[in-house]
Amino acid sequence: MFAEVGASGWYILGEQVREFELRLATYWGGGCAVGVASGLDALEISLKVLGCRPGDRVLTTPISAFATTLAIVKVGAIPVFADTTDQGQLDLNACADLLERRRDIRYFIPVHLFGNPLPPGELRTLRDRFELSIIEDCAQSIGASTRGEYRREFTGQVGQMAATSFYPTKNLGAMGDAGAILTPDAKLAEQAKALRDYGQSAKYRHEWIGYNSRLDELHAALLAQVFLPRLDAWTQRRRDIAGQYDARLVNPHVRALGLPTGACPSRHLYPVLVAPDRRDALLAYLRAQGIVGGVHYPVAIPDQPAMQAVPFEQFTNLMRAREFCRREVSLPLHPYLLAEEVERVIAVVNAWSG
Ligand SMILES: *Cc1c(COP(=O)(O)O)cnc(C)c1O
Repeated sequence: MFAEVGASGWYILGEQVREFELRLATYWGGGCAVGVASGLDALEISLKVLGCRPGDRVLTTPISAFATTLAIVKVGAIPVFADTTDQGQLDLNACADLLERRRDIRYFIPVHLFGNPLPPGELRTLRDRFELSIIEDCAQSIGASTRGEYRREFTGQVGQMAATSFYPTKNLGAMGDAGAILTPDAKLAEQAKALRDYGQSAKYRHEWIGYNSRLDELHAALLAQVFLPRLDAWTQRRRDIAGQYDARLVNPHVRALGLPTGACPSRHLYPVLVAPDRRDALLAYLRAQGIVGGVHYPVAIPDQPAMQAVPFEQFTNLMRAREFCRREVSLPLHPYLLAEEVERVIAVVNAWSG
């Protein structure tokens, strides 16, 4: 495959990218996919395509990868943060309250955090009731679905657009940076294709102020031919491991997050909650046993130093989000964990004295 791309002499935005876009769109249940250079770019370009302008308000969550907010700030828009639930997910009731009071908010980036799908019915209600332009952040939720009224529904089907990332540690990771935009609307997809390539509508005709956010042929070929065909098996393995953690972690000092009802998460991460003053102790204890825990995320986005330099708004004091950030630990979860490693994580966590 490396030889095939090498011999073609065409390294960026070619046949491999087109093929990957087709396969990704098919995997995702139809519509159009547009390959870009990263998940951040997928979000930023989608905001541009939907007409988001400097000063526009964009509702989003205080707990996510920083990229979610960065995309908003980079187009000159103003992030508006609503609080999360104590599971760390954006609180859609709080969003409804806020949108009721703030009819000027037209844009919304919900995040299917940890691969737990937000309920599509509630997202749809918000979209229609407040006439929102929605970009779903699906960087952690590829393969995650929810039981709908008639069929299972992948995340990313409610928004006019959705963004995903193929950062190496994501459920579908490339051997480098890459991302994609998904949309059911062919016109929006065309716009995104122009914006990723200097805003060209035709060769050397620059219709818009665009980006250099082109996807490489090599990444696209790897994703289409090697990694995407393995995604379902990888997701299944993640679900098996997470299911074992759900069933067998019994330490009262370590609380797993409940699963959203009717949802089939992609199990991107396995977060647990501990007492805020015991988090470092748990991480150190795990490390001493040769187990690497993570923290997603240690700081709520509005509390990041970079945010002091830009305008943003927060609705309420985001108490639950900030509390979540003090308590979260992510246990090891990836498709190549061996059965004995999973056993060890369970035994070691269960043996922690708190
Ligand atoms: C990884 C991630 C992104 C950004 O993707 P990159 O490819 O790293 O730019 C955005 N949102 C969430 C929720 C992510 O996890």
